[in-house]
Amino acid sequence: MKRPSIVWFRKDLRLEDNAAFYTAAERDGPIIPLYIWAPEEERPWEPGGASRWWLHYSLESLSDELETLGYPLIIRAGPSLHVLEEVIKETRAEALFWNRLYEPEAIKRDTRIKSTLSSRGIDVQTFNASLLFEPWTIFNKQKKPFQVFTRFWQACLKQGEMTSPLPMPPHARGRAPSIKSLSPSELHLLPEVPWDQGISAIWRPGAHHARQRLDYFIEHALMDYKEQREFPGKHGVSYLSPYLHFGEISPRMIWHEVVREYPEESEERDAYLRQLGWREFAHHLLYHFPFTPTDPLRREFSHFPWHHDDKALKAWQTGYTGYPLVDAGMRQLWITGWMHNRLRMVVGSFLVKDLLLPWQEGAKWFWDTLVDADLANNTLGWQWVAGCGADAAPYFRIFNPVTQGEKFDGTGEYVRRWVPELAKLPDEWIQQPWDAPPDVLKQAEVEIGKTYPHPIVDHSVARKRALDALKEITGAKAFETP
Ligand SMILES: Cc1cc2nc3c(=O)[nH]c(=O)nc-3n(C[C@H](O)[C@H](O)[C@H](O)COP(=O)(O)OP(=O)(O)OC[C@H]3O[C@@H](n4cnc5c(N)ncnc54)[C@H](O)[C@@H]3O)c2cc1C
Repeated sequence: MKRPSIVWFRKDLRLEDNAAFYTAAERDGPIIPLYIWAPEEERPWEPGGASRWWLHYSLESLSDELETLGYPLIIRAGPSLHVLEEVIKETRAEALFWNRLYEPEAIKRDTRIKSTLSSRGIDVQTFNASLLFEPWTIFNKQKKPFQVFTRFWQACLKQGEMTSPLPMPPHARGRAPSIKSLSPSELHLLPEVPWDQGISAIWRPGAHHARQRLDYFIEHALMDYKEQREFPGKHGVSYLSPYLHFGEISPRMIWHEVVREYPEESEERDAYLRQLGWREFAHHLLYHFPFTPTDPLRREFSHFPWHHDDKALKAWQTGYTGYPLVDAGMRQLWITGWMHNRLRMVVGSFLVKDLLLPWQEGAKWFWDTLVDADLANNTLGWQWVAGCGADAAPYFRIFNPVTQGEKFDGTGEYVRRWVPELAKLPDEWIQQPWDAPPDVLKQAEVEIGKTYPHPIVDHSVARKRALDALKEITGAKAFETP
């Protein structure tokens, strides 16, 4: 029998369709599944509070799943290379397998580790388990990375049949040497002050729950996705983003399950698969433009005259801007760790255009509060909103939070749920309570400035101010029709 192999788990916290684990299981030798909680210096994008909450439960779930197959999960804390060297020494492992990550710092670290350990005779192999198409396989005719989504996705779809997901690994054959491990609790990922009731009330991390969510979505919502996905008050989306981020499910598993249930092409089915395409596009951009988590892709935006206003930022973060739809979105985020995509666009636009605050402030807040905080998707989303990224919404297209509310939350269902102090207002005024006649406000027990804030800015004034700011960097060019 061969000497042990280590499977280093990172953002692939599942056993099914896990290429690294599958390859290790195919070898004739014991497997040591390892998770490393690395120090901050190694990860400039340290997981935020909501992500740490998710990770805790995800590790518990992975550990249980592994246990049932006879592979105890080893958890250690410390610099990754150092921990790997320790475990190799303690177990006499001769092989190390992991699934690739695409964040710039992770790539640098992994390359260094691979070269160090390979030079010492360890068989290091890496795999793709989190993308449908690796970033270095898709280029435009000029051999450059795509910057327009539709063309990128067309090029992806021309790559041919998607390979099938890998099965669950078999039960452990050999006994791995028993070595010490921390428990997930010893990583102190859960908050000391319990602010997580809202999150625990709706989320169940773990591969098993990812599967259940997918099955439910395919059965109940997929065929209405195209129609319903824009309405934050409906349950029209899959809620799979945190599971995808932590790798509790792979995009390939989702793709195959959807296509198995609905083999014929249809607008409904393809509208959903296309969203997986946006996720691919985000990773493609992050890989080819690694500076984008902090700096705009369109360099002229580096000189944008952003404001700095802590009071306005706080009002936005806590959901007290006086614009009901924006406040509903921000409160949903704070309480549940998730926000509907339509709202991410609306609150994002409000931050960067109505308040003229830098998009990086929004990205940071999302990073800390989202259970699905993902460097690639969050960067794409914020650069899209701010008009400074690839295929972004032009800066001069400014969402009006009132008309967005009327269009996508016409009955006020969503606002009523998250901004309960406005719940008694009739539909007609729920998106702009400051304009409601005094008797309507009185009847609804709303006192603007007391029970609910005055609007923090006048949208039409703020809109003009944003367009003037844009002129400072682009001149009249920005107003040409795209
Ligand atoms: C400002 C902003 C910030 C964002 N930050 C994140 C983030 O940190 N993490 C994150 O996963 N998504 C982010 N998104 C994208 C999107 O809002 C979420 O992926 C989506 O709302 C998650 O819900 P769902 O799983 O129900 O999505 P569905 O509509 O069911 O879509 C299925 C999957 O497709 C992918 N997807 C869908 N829309 C997008 C998109 N626009 N860009 C990239 N991938 C997408 C996600 O992986 C999602 O889980 C952001 C969008 C914006 C505008």
